[in-house]
Amino acid sequence: MINNISALFDKSCKCLHCQTPFSTKRVRGGSLTMLSRDTDFCTRFKEQSLNPILYTVCVCPACGFAFTEQFKSRLTAWEKQTVAEQIAAKWTPKNFGSVRKVPEAIVSYKLAIYAAELTDQPHSVKAGLYLRLAWLYRFLGKPEQELRFVNMAVGEYELSYVHSDYVRGEKEMSEVRLLYLIGELYRRLEKFDLAIKYFGKALAFRNVTIESGVIRMAHDQWQLAREEYKAKQQTQKIG
Ligand SMILES: [Zn+2]
Repeated sequence: MINNISALFDKSCKCLHCQTPFSTKRVRGGSLTMLSRDTDFCTRFKEQSLNPILYTVCVCPACGFAFTEQFKSRLTAWEKQTVAEQIAAKWTPKNFGSVRKVPEAIVSYKLAIYAAELTDQPHSVKAGLYLRLAWLYRFLGKPEQELRFVNMAVGEYELSYVHSDYVRGEKEMSEVRLLYLIGELYRRLEKFDLAIKYFGKALAFRNVTIESGVIRMAHDQWQLAREEYKAKQQTQKIG
């Protein structure tokens, strides 16, 4: 039996904008039991209320600038000016440093996305924020909101692929994994032609990658997307 007190710890951080030191909760590595992983890598734990994605975003209580460990470590003078005007000046002090439930985590991601847009963070960073926000809506059972943010995520992942900035983003992201993920997000959006195209690009890595798990998933989801595409065309013919 696990409780919040033993699984969470306080991590100190420093605001990237105003330099205020503050603390935020993190989930201790290895303290959760993984139950399953969705086809877009969303991980479910036995202790869902402690899913680490709830605690990814740090929100400065003093100025409202929200960021993750993937953000660029310095803001330019021009970016600081924009943050001061568009975020800090409008901020009512609020602390996100204690236990978070899904709705508070959603607010933290929206703050981080706004901050990321204002400070020109890499596409891979923005994509990761949009996708995790979509997952939080999935946990709440709100498919419309979920797909709205899946759509934003796939747009940023495509730009990340084009500009090759994914190497600086999430730790585990490789080219083949990124291609698979873009395909899978398009499949979930029912854009089957694009899904099939990206699964095909991922499958082209069949003989050059050691990530055989991703290749297997690309093959399965490619087949599924083809079936779904056919079924959709049939329905359209009948309709
Ligand atoms: Zn701050």
